[in-house]
This record gives sequence, C-alpha cells and structure tokens, in this order.
Amino acid sequence: MAKFSAADHRFMLAALAEAALAPAHGDIPVGAVVAGGGEILGRGHNRREADRDPTAHAEMIALRQAGAALGDWRLGEAVIYVTLEPCPMCAAAIAQSRLRQIVYGADDPRLGACGSLLNLAQFPGFPHDVAVRSGLLAAEAQALLRRFFADLRPGQPAQLSGQPGQPSQMGQPDQPGPLSAESAESAESIPDYVRQTIDSRPGRHYT
Ligand SMILES: [Zn+2]
Repeated sequence: MAKFSAADHRFMLAALAEAALAPAHGDIPVGAVVAGGGEILGRGHNRREADRDPTAHAEMIALRQAGAALGDWRLGEAVIYVTLEPCPMCAAAIAQSRLRQIVYGADDPRLGACGSLLNLAQFPGFPHDVAVRSGLLAAEAQALLRRFFADLRPGQPAQLSGQPGQPSQMGQPDQPGPLSAESAESAESIPDYVRQTIDSRPGRHYT
C-alpha cells in the first residue's frame, strides 16, 4: 500500500527540518511546508515564543509565504505538510486558503482539528472539503516533541538536546493534568512526567 509517495516524504522531511529549528528559540517543534508544482512554496516553524505572537504557528507562517510566492491567497491545488495535526486555528486557515489537501505526521488527540478533537477539514458550511492523510513520519515528529519536552527545565526556557551541563530534568510520574502547551502532545506518546513539566512552567498556560 503506497500511501505516501517519494515526494510526500521529501516534503515532510522538509517540514521536520523546519520543526527542528523551533527549540532554538524556545518554541515547541512543529514545522510545515506548502508544496505545489513539485516545489516548496512556503515553509515555517512554530515561532509563538520567539515572536510573542499567538498566531505564529508553523502552518500560518507557511501559508503566508505560499500566498506571497503565488501572488494569490487562493492556494488551490497546493498541499500542506505538517509534522503535527493542525489545531483549530490552522485547520480553519487551511480550509480558507482553499488548499485541497493536508498531510500531517503525528495525531494530536488534545487539539487536533483534522479528526482528533474535531474535524474542520471536512466541516459543514465550509466551502469545500480538505482531504487529509496522516501518519507520514509520525514517529520522527513525535521524537522531536518528546526530546523538546524532556529537555525542558521547569520555569526555564527550553534547552537544546545534548547540550553539556544541561541534564534533562524529569518530574515524577503523577496523575496527568491538563496539557497546557499547544498540541505537541500525542496523549499516548507523551509520558506523564513530561506533562507535569509542562504544567509546572510558570506563565505557560495556553488554554
Ligand atoms: Zn495551529
């Protein structure tokens, strides 16, 4: 079953490369590219912390770039590749852009708006349905997220993995509280101690 093509893999790898840039400025590693005509039209990674911008999700940045590249907000037959299932804001923006297809990596059971929490890709009243394919390089996307949260020290900005003198600080397993970071969190894949780390960071309540 050739669910994904070589081109799909190439574009998702580019999205993963974008995601990997986010932790350098303390942002959760999520990346996106918009591809059309075999080329990347826009790319972005989460910059919410870096830009102090609640809308600076990877998808929003990639959509803006693609619109500028095409000279049109209607992105038509382009495809967006995202490492994590888009949130409601991004899923709605994708639908508004008239993109025809979303390919994402990891599910986000908490905030995913392409079928997990709700489905804005196929939503009554929206002008058209956006086709969704998922699971492409999901393990790689989750690994980036896991490493990011494992490296967080409570109350401090994220540290890059592998930095000397910055051992991961793991909390103790505890009852899972509500996750407070955007998406990130495939519930099955993020251990409780990571949730606790997220929840204990001051000023990090996103809901
Ligand atoms: Zn989003």
